[in-house]
Amino acid sequence: MTDANLQEENADLRRRLEEAEEVIRAIHSGAVDAFVVAEPHGTRVYTLQTADRPYRLLVEEMQQGALTLSDDGTIAYCNRRFADLVGRPLERLMGVAFRDFIPLDAQIFYESLLQQGRASAGQGEAHLLKADGELIPVFLTFNALPPDTGVAFGVLVTDLTTQRHHEKLNTAVEALKESDRRKNEFLALLAHELRNPLAPIRNALHIMRLTEGNGKEVQAASDMMERQVGEMVRLVDDLLDVSRISRGKIDLRKDRVELASAVHHAVEAARSLYENMKHELTVTLPAQPVYLNADPTRLAQVMGNLLNNACKFTDEGGRISLTVEREGEQAVIRVRDSGIGIAADQLLRIFEMFVQVDTSLERSVGGLGIGLTLVKNLVEMHDGTVEVHSAGAGQGSEFVVRLPIMVETPEPPPEPTVSEPTTTLARRILVVDDNRVSADSLARLLQLTGNETHTAYDGLEAVQAAATFRPDVVLLDIGLPKLNGYEAARKIREEPWGKKMVLVALTGWGQEEDRRKSREAGFNGHMIKPVELTALMKLLAELQPTVASAS
Ligand code: ADP
Repeated sequence: MTDANLQEENADLRRRLEEAEEVIRAIHSGAVDAFVVAEPHGTRVYTLQTADRPYRLLVEEMQQGALTLSDDGTIAYCNRRFADLVGRPLERLMGVAFRDFIPLDAQIFYESLLQQGRASAGQGEAHLLKADGELIPVFLTFNALPPDTGVAFGVLVTDLTTQRHHEKLNTAVEALKESDRRKNEFLALLAHELRNPLAPIRNALHIMRLTEGNGKEVQAASDMMERQVGEMVRLVDDLLDVSRISRGKIDLRKDRVELASAVHHAVEAARSLYENMKHELTVTLPAQPVYLNADPTRLAQVMGNLLNNACKFTDEGGRISLTVEREGEQAVIRVRDSGIGIAADQLLRIFEMFVQVDTSLERSVGGLGIGLTLVKNLVEMHDGTVEVHSAGAGQGSEFVVRLPIMVETPEPPPEPTVSEPTTTLARRILVVDDNRVSADSLARLLQLTGNETHTAYDGLEAVQAAATFRPDVVLLDIGLPKLNGYEAARKIREEPWGKKMVLVALTGWGQEEDRRKSREAGFNGHMIKPVELTALMKLLAELQPTVASAS
């Protein structure tokens, strides 16, 4: 072999050695998955299970987004999970700045994470911006990578959506548990409060039976029963109101109201309470009348509830004041008492539903913890505010209600001329209620006040009784079996004899919607149960002053 041949062979061997070294380097760096070798009987493909293949699989298949970023924060590598998270195609993500996925208001936070990551590691919660604008809650971890890797940061992105969802569910479950607990407590309290007036009523009944004929005893017992029933009706009314308010089903019947007249009504209604407790009540009104655009009954209810509380939570012989002042375009009503006061930590809570400072069943004053909830809701429905002040236990309390004043005060509408109600008019009255005790007792009451009555207990019976008894007035319950009150009223109105009858709906529902329905069905009037005799007489006098004949 010549020198030249030897040199050529040597050069060939070197080239092949270099090639082999390059292949080994490629295999080491993971750049080769398989290679093809020409063998005497054909070519063969060798696939490589590189040493770092398990790690690559881990990164590619993991449930977290994984990225590497160069020093300026652009993406050098990212896995498919990250691409899915941000809703972009994987192949378009290389070279994109990571900050493009961070919402504007979190950019500073992102910068600080990057700084910490550069030092060693940084982590925190943030949101990532998806291609469709949705924000995904994530936990980000930034790690500095060794300098010889050619990239600066390794980033892990954990999607927190499911976790957040669970957290929300847990919070909702806790809130439900709390409200369930409060409701249970409330039911116990309700039973207790409704039962309280029943014992004296039962006693009074025994007294009446035992002292039959003794007018004085009967009078005292029936006075007491009336007070207790009044208390129960008030509780049940509050309950109905509060449930309507929480279902957004309360209507205000707003009108031009002079505040002083609403004050007068509230004070009158509370009279027996403050007189029994021997409280001294001072009422101060502004010299000029103040007009509001308000529902007069609800306004009186607000002040009534505050006065009621002032009386209840003040020991006998206390001082209570109700003042009304005009401050700019607001009417300011202050109800102040010299009573037990309210601790600072309770001041905000007491307007919440069912909240009472003293919840022991042995407490001396009754109540359901809904009066102030009603006050707050009613005041807010009038675009007003209510706040409470107290210097603490034993220091008295002050409730301040602010309501917008009607600035222009148009001429008051002329007073409707209502003929004086009288109970001496005798009418033929048909009373219809499926609650027999209610129907019979109302009919008896109407007989005692000089009327002729007949009763019916379902809708069909009502129409038949109207046909045979031919009443002047039908007091018709709405929720009736067989034929409801609206249907019965329509049937009566269809008959020639039914056109002139006065039909009054008796229902538990006084919403505008219910009144509209009863008007449409042909009713002349609408009363809410339990009916008060004087209110019924007044309504009848207004509706039918001429039909009745004097007895
Ligand atoms: P209730 O009077 O039926 O308990 P409220 O909603 O009217 O319910 O009042 C809630 C709670 O606020 C009361 O139980 C009482 O603890 C407290 N509170 C209300 N008014 C006064 C007041 N004038 N003085 C002291 N505490 C009061």
